[in-house]
This record gives sequence, structure tokens and C-alpha cells, in this order.
Amino acid sequence: MILFRQLFDPDTSTYTYLLADPLTRAGIIIDPVIDQSSRDLDLLRELYIHLLYSVETHVHADHISGSAKLREITGAQIVIGAGTKLRCADWLITDGKHLIFGDHVLTALATPGHTDGCTTYHWSDRLFTGDTLLINACGRTDFQQGNPAVLYDSIQRLLTFSDETLVFPGHDYDGHQVSTIGQEKSINPRLVDKSKEEFIAIMNTLDSPYPRQIDVALPANQHCGLAA
Ligand code: FE
Repeated sequence: MILFRQLFDPDTSTYTYLLADPLTRAGIIIDPVIDQSSRDLDLLRELYIHLLYSVETHVHADHISGSAKLREITGAQIVIGAGTKLRCADWLITDGKHLIFGDHVLTALATPGHTDGCTTYHWSDRLFTGDTLLINACGRTDFQQGNPAVLYDSIQRLLTFSDETLVFPGHDYDGHQVSTIGQEKSINPRLVDKSKEEFIAIMNTLDSPYPRQIDVALPANQHCGLAA
């Protein structure tokens, strides 16, 4: 058992996750948003959680990370995938490495493709997929080193988890909160009956809008969320 919260930033449709060991109160936050720092700090206090790690699934283009602020206030270490090469991080984590909180272990899986440094995190029955695998969708590949062929391979790796594995994404724009690997295999329109070539063709013709906050978010997130 862990303490678990799924938190939402309505302005950017970003999910933040809090995981903590109920005995030692050691905790991990995944993808905090700077505008929600007060909410997150209040929750940590309310639940008596000592934050060990502020973990990023990737360098976000759509919101400024709350990691630097949380590190400053709580002393938590910032963890992000080694592919990001971010100098502000305390730990550039590589595939298969473990983040230990109390009696629990969160495992990093390198899942590049949306960006070079994208990392999925696995705990028990659930995956925190960032933008690698979204509910009925996946992250775009038209900027930030995006590569649809690489993303396809990363998603295929996630699909090797059991059908019951819960999928907690980095965003959702349609009110979905959680999916499973089985559901994504059977209804995700980018995956069902799609060859790698078909997936690449879909990704290369998405024509997604320019992200509203990218010009502020990317420079700030190169510093883990501090103003550049
Ligand atoms: Fe993203």
C-alpha cells in the first residue's frame, strides 16, 4: 500500500502524482507544476510527507516545472531522464534504475520519442507514462527531438506490461484520469492495427497547434523550472 494522489492543473491539463510510503512518510512527486506549488506543499504538510524526489517524465513544453521550487523548500532531489542532459538535475536517471521511498521502489524506464529524455516510471501495478503514452493518444513528435519511429518502439515496450497495468498519463484534455495497457492496446487509435510505418505516417501528419507556453516553459525547464 502507498499513499497516492493524482492532482490536476486545469490551466495546462497536466497531471501531477504524489506517492508516499505510509510508514516512513517518504514521498515522491512526479511532474509538479510551478503554479501549483502551494497546493503541493500544503498536501505534503497535511499528509506529513518528507519529499525525497521531485521526478520529471521529460522537459515539458507546456508548463513550467515546480521541481526547482520544491527542491528549494523541501530539499528534495530532482530526477530526470539522462537523455535530457539537464545540469540542474541532481540525478540524471538511466533505464532500470530504482528510486527507493520507504519500503517501495519506483523504477525508471527510458521511453524516448516524444523527447530524447522521456522516462516512464513504474511502481507496482501502475505506469506513469508522461507524454509517451496518453489515453487514446500519445505525445507529439514535431519538436524537442521528437522522433515517431523511436516513440513507436518505446510504446511497444510499454505494451509488454500486463493488460491490467494502470496507465497514468502526463496530460489529458478530455477528462480521462486513468487507463490500462489492455485498453490502450484495444482502443488507442494510434496503435490499434497500426504498423510502425502507419504510426509514423499518422504522427507526421498531425499538424498540432503551437504550444501556448513553449517559449517560456522550455527555457525555464532547462533550469528545472527556475526563471531563465
Ligand atoms: Fe510533453
